[in-house]
Amino acid sequence: MKNITQPFPSKDGRKKPVHPTIIDRHGRTFYYLRMAVNEQCNLRCIYCMPAEGVNFLQKGQLLTTHEIKRLLNVTSELGVSKIRFTGGEPLLRKDIPLLVKYAKNLTYVDYVHLTTNGILIHRYLDELENAGLSGINISLDTLKRDRFQFITRRIGIEQVIENIHLAIKSQIPSVKINVVVMREFNHDELLDFAQLTMDYNITVRFIELMPFDAHQIWKTGKFYRAEHIVNDLKAQANQLQEVAGSSTEHYVFKMKNAKGKIAVIPAYSRNLCGTCNRIRITADGKLLNCLYSQEEANLRDLMRKGSSDGGIKALIKKTFLNKHMDGWDAQQYNDPHRESMTQIGG
Ligand code: SAM
Ligand code: SF4
Repeated sequence: MKNITQPFPSKDGRKKPVHPTIIDRHGRTFYYLRMAVNEQCNLRCIYCMPAEGVNFLQKGQLLTTHEIKRLLNVTSELGVSKIRFTGGEPLLRKDIPLLVKYAKNLTYVDYVHLTTNGILIHRYLDELENAGLSGINISLDTLKRDRFQFITRRIGIEQVIENIHLAIKSQIPSVKINVVVMREFNHDELLDFAQLTMDYNITVRFIELMPFDAHQIWKTGKFYRAEHIVNDLKAQANQLQEVAGSSTEHYVFKMKNAKGKIAVIPAYSRNLCGTCNRIRITADGKLLNCLYSQEEANLRDLMRKGSSDGGIKALIKKTFLNKHMDGWDAQQYNDPHRESMTQIGG
């Protein structure tokens, strides 16, 4: 068994730490839950959903608020100390501040984050702040109006940029910008995004394109490798210095005298799998032990059949025990049937 040392959660001692009990056969521990709270979205990003949307699930197929809370509670008892709400677009749920508050109040949970396209932040910012949101990742792939409309198939870049500034001014401790880098679409904007870190204490994260694009652009040569992104940044940005980041942030830099950081995420190259700590639950309650795996455990149906918390915990632990070593290994045995990140929970 390969023994991979993982940081113990809650090491700042903010809450009583619980030893993570979700462990795989490779010695990794899992304490970071990414919880998708819907599939619907108010944008139609070209690398995520077709213009007409995907085959959205019916309401009855999605987890209820009560079921989401139950899974948050059960996973926290298994050692989850960080939760991220995602989707779809999580800010389309009016009860998202209540879910954040619920998660933040769980005994063992220290950090609650949210990933959003930023369009609706202004409507919820105060409530999210009051609920104790620890961090917000805002997705924005271009700083140019016409490109935004092309990539998202919607208008709204001004609102997103205004909302990024509101988030920066808020009490939310961590603000990150997610940029999916695509050849020809935006790979010439790396420096423009990097420059934002000179003035603001944010992390700009450049993410590799992944093949979960509902058969739109993956096969058209738009993939831009993490190493290319790093090389471009080194060539263009002022004296990049390597610094520490989160476990997915494989390459992390700071420009000279910058307030913020720049990170590159090899989401497709997958050289970050060795330190994976993530648990994914889709909006319809399927547990995934890897983004690239088709093996799913149906937590929703287990709950609806009346399972005890113990039964749910046993299925979660079993699913992770069998996790493949990396995303390449997982993919080899499976042909992923979820075609869009909205169905996986990005
Ligand atoms: N709607 C929210 C948003 O866009 O931030 C949350 C859900 S979205 C699926 C989560 C993240 O996945 C976003 O940063 C988005 O850019 C990213 N994403 C979606 N499809 C992707 C793909 N095919 N490759 C890489 N990243 C993708
Ligand atoms: Fe919506 Fe996010 Fe997918 Fe874009 S990436 S279509 S904002 S879910």
